Amino acid sequence: ATWTPGDGWHDARVTAYGPLTLEPSAAVLHYAQEIFEGMKAYRHADGSVWTFRPEQNAARFVRSARRLALPALPTEAFVESLRVLVDVDQAWVPGTEHGEASLYLRPFMFASEAFLGVRPAAKVTYSVIASPAGPYFSGGLKPVSIWVSSEYVRAAPGGTGAAKCGGNYAASLAAQVEASEHQCDQVVFLDGLEHKWVEELGGMNLFFVRRDGSIVTPELTGTILEGITRDSIVELAKELGHDVTERRISIDEWREGVASGDIAEVFACGTAAVVTPVGRLAWDGGEVVMNGGEVGAVTERIRSTLLDIQYGRTEDTHGWMHRLV
Ligand code: PMP
Repeated sequence: ATWTPGDGWHDARVTAYGPLTLEPSAAVLHYAQEIFEGMKAYRHADGSVWTFRPEQNAARFVRSARRLALPALPTEAFVESLRVLVDVDQAWVPGTEHGEASLYLRPFMFASEAFLGVRPAAKVTYSVIASPAGPYFSGGLKPVSIWVSSEYVRAAPGGTGAAKCGGNYAASLAAQVEASEHQCDQVVFLDGLEHKWVEELGGMNLFFVRRDGSIVTPELTGTILEGITRDSIVELAKELGHDVTERRISIDEWREGVASGDIAEVFACGTAAVVTPVGRLAWDGGEVVMNGGEVGAVTERIRSTLLDIQYGRTEDTHGWMHRLV
């Protein structure tokens, strides 16, 4: 669909996947006025197709749009765009015989007006891509290793850290390369002011499980993405009997907590990887290993509780699932 100041949103249509035509001066190519979302469509055993808390993604999309001076897309239009696309592509939603596979959905909005100059674009394009996705870990669930970057920061107060905009990810790539050079899978970003407080990974939020069963996750400071998986896990973990606290946690508390045995398990979460155990934390000069590098029991339980809801294997007592087809 296209947005212009005079007509608002118009010309919504479904087309076969193929190249977009953009002028070389399209604003997004120069000033990165762009936002996106990441979602999944899940097939249940009876053949129906569902998505998870889409109104949350729609609300975050509106918040991201506001931060990037893009027009708001109403929740109903956002959810309807997913329904129409999945309806057309329903044969591509993997069946339950493929395990935890899904149809990945990528709504995105960008400045398509052709002009050179820094101002909000007066022509904007909204689009959704659908693409079948296998389980994130094809060889079974495997703990990831994390690198603490001493150089790079992902977000600072007042910046775009809480928005899901492409520029945040462009800025995280060099840190990701640094992690790979140190044989790590992911980077953990610390806060931009004191370079001390744990924020999140490149595409996942973090949780810490203490030896006494209590759980801590970094509070929402305005510089981390408000993960929908994070929000859901806070609720599920409480229902599973864990005491859950959202507060600041420093990188030293992480390192020392693992060394002393106070922190028993660490996991990361997001739509793509669901719940992923963190096995190792490395920095310039040392490392600690969580839970012997194995998948922890609490991590496994929270992961399966969430997946059972998403794949319709248990009753959806929260009203989180939204039927698409
Ligand atoms: N943090 C970042 C930076 C992300 O890109 C994502 C993925 N959207 C997350 C956290 C997890 O968010 P969600 O649970 O909504 O997928």
